[in-house]
Formats: sequence, C-alpha cells, structure tokens
Amino acid sequence: MALIRQRKLSKQQIRRIEKQQQAHQDDNTNDLIDGVVIAHYGKQLEVQVTSLPAEQPQKPSVADGEPEPFWQPIELHDIWRCHARTNLPMLATGDNVRWIADPNTGLGRIESVQPRRSLISRPDRYHKLKPVASNVDILAIVFAPLPLPAPSLIDRYLVVCHHAEVTPLLVLNKADLLSLEPHKEVANLLTEYQQLGYDTVLTSVDCPETVKTINDIKQQGLQDLEHKIKNKMVIFAGQSGVGKSSLINALLPDSEQSVNVISTNSKLGQHTTTTSRLLPFVNDDLSQGGIVDTPGIREYGIWHLTPDDILAGFIELAPLAGLCKFRDCKHTSNSKGCALWQAVADGEVLQRRVESLVTLQEEADTQHY
Ligand code: GDP
Ligand code: ZN
Repeated sequence: MALIRQRKLSKQQIRRIEKQQQAHQDDNTNDLIDGVVIAHYGKQLEVQVTSLPAEQPQKPSVADGEPEPFWQPIELHDIWRCHARTNLPMLATGDNVRWIADPNTGLGRIESVQPRRSLISRPDRYHKLKPVASNVDILAIVFAPLPLPAPSLIDRYLVVCHHAEVTPLLVLNKADLLSLEPHKEVANLLTEYQQLGYDTVLTSVDCPETVKTINDIKQQGLQDLEHKIKNKMVIFAGQSGVGKSSLINALLPDSEQSVNVISTNSKLGQHTTTTSRLLPFVNDDLSQGGIVDTPGIREYGIWHLTPDDILAGFIELAPLAGLCKFRDCKHTSNSKGCALWQAVADGEVLQRRVESLVTLQEEADTQHY
C-alpha cells in the first residue's frame, strides 16, 4: 500500500481547523437529513429522504403582488438531486448519507457517509476502480440452459462476493428448458454449487403459458426467489440473455412506476446514463429491501485482486493450497506436488474449479494497470 505522508501542521493551525470544523458542524446539525443514495450520475446523485431535519426550513414570506419564488418543501421519501462535499470518498448507490437540502433551488449537498456493510466496485473504462453499489446483501448470479453457461464466469462472481462481503445466490433460470434433452446437464451445475455450500434456486419467468406444469414451476420458482431475497438488497449479475431483466420485472411489478415517480418528484427531466439505480420492492420503503439495477456489472473484472485474494474466494480449494509441496505453486496440472491436483485425482474437488482458479490467477497476474 502506498505510504501517505502527513503534512506537519503547527498547533495553532490544528486548533484553527478544529474550531472551523466545529463551527461548521454547529452550523448545520439541525439541518441534516438522513438519506439513501438511490442513483448515481457521475457527479450528481439522487438521494431519497429517510428522515426529516430537526428544524424544517421556513419558506420566506412574499409581499402582496410579488411572484411566488421556487420553494421545494422537504418531505419523507422525496427524491432530491444532490452533489457531494468535495472531501468525501466516492459515493455509491445504496450509501446511507447525511445531507443538507436547499429548498430555494431543490438541490442538496451530501455532508457525510455512514460506514458500509458491503461494497461492490468495478473498474471504469479508464481502469480506475469505482464503487458501484454499497450495502448490498445478496449477489444473485443468474445462469440458464441457454445461452450455454460459462462456469468460470460463475466462479468469478463468487470470488467477487467473497471480497465484497456479499452473499451469493445461484439462480438457474429458464428451468422450463431443463426437461429438453440437450439442457438436462445444466441442472448438475446447480447441484455442484449446492454441494459446495452455496444457496441456490431454480426459476422460470418468461416461459410459454400453455402448459400447466410449466406454470407451476414458474410460480414456485419466483416464490422461492422472493422468499430468499425478502427484506434484502440484491444485485442481479450474469451473462446477457439469461433472463435478468425478466426476473427483475417479475419481482418489481411497479418498477416502471417508481422510475416515473423519481422524474416527477425531483423535476429532473431527462435522465442520462446511470451507473446503478436502487429499486425498492415496496414503493418508498427502502427498509424492505430492493434491487440495485446495475447495467454494467456483467463484464465484471477482478484484476484488482491478487492471486491470493482469488484463492480465498474458492472456498473448498483455499484450505488445500497450503499443502502444496512448493509455496509458490501455480496449481497448473503439471505442477509437482500440487495438493489441488492430488485432490482432483482423489475425487475430492472438481477439476473445472481448479482450472477456473488457475485461469483467474493468471489473469490477475498478467494485468498491470
Ligand atoms: P438479460 O439479458 O439477462 O436481461 O435477459 P432477458 O431478461 O432480456 O431475457 C432474454 C430472453 O430470455 C428473452 O427473450 C426472455 O423472454 C427469455 N427468457 C427469460 N426468462 C425465461 C424463462 O424462464 N424461460 C424461457 N424459456 N425464456 C426466458
Ligand atoms: Zn498447488
């Protein structure tokens, strides 16, 4: 880690800074509002009001005949466009913040951010690591019989979960296709992850409505999924075409409506591209959980993790790696005395998981940004 050199300040300077900070806090504690960042547009963010300030700002009185000036009252669950104070860390959707509203402009300023339970970051197009979503509880890793699953992508997401401190949930969608011959094997993949101790669920959303048994799978699967993510913050990830949008739509019947509420409430007009947006399961009530919709999370890179970090994310392999003959063992199939390959030969671990580990470690080793 880079060394941070501290600038030496004189006692007098320190006293002055402390006094200024104290004065600043005394100034605005009564105006502070609790909120949650529900969308992120680069420099600007949308924050939902979760508590009212100790003192509501007073609307200025207007003399007879004068035009009414713009005035945005502060109401619970309203959504305000805010910017952040310059010295704050980069903020992410899901952050719990304290902020100050300016009813004269309808804009807010975020003053502080509360400690995070979890944080999912990803590299932006300039290879800088950006926080995408904080306080997420579950990463739903979606795959399907079609498009053919890439197990190494699932392993990649599992590593990400391990490091972001987010619980993975493996979702095998398009369960209706599993009865067809070429797809049957995909169910084994779900079983393999179940045997490793991961939580799993089978779902079906957009399937033909005509067959009754399929409708039963559909109801049951969605109910199981709903049950597992109830009161939680969830992100859906997985290859394109596996049914993430279909699942999100089925779980959020009024997501369209909540998007409209956002535009009218905060009078924002046209939206530009967001990095992520939080959609609550129950309108206006973030405490009952919701979905963080993150269009860009699909191509999740893990280059910022070291090979050891990656190993730690392979929960059944990590304890074995210490048993390899050489400390710097690369765990390739021809590595001498490799405990992982011995475990493959003994039928204790899956060969494809060891191969996946090696691929991800090599990738992390060769990418230097
Ligand atoms: P995304 O790219 O992961 O968001 O996937 P979409 O939700 O756009 O779905 C891709 C395609 O799969 C669409 O044509 C859906 O209608 C279809 N699809 C989604 N869920 C199911 C399902 O459970 N069964 C079947 N047979 N098709 C589905
Ligand atoms: Zn080894």
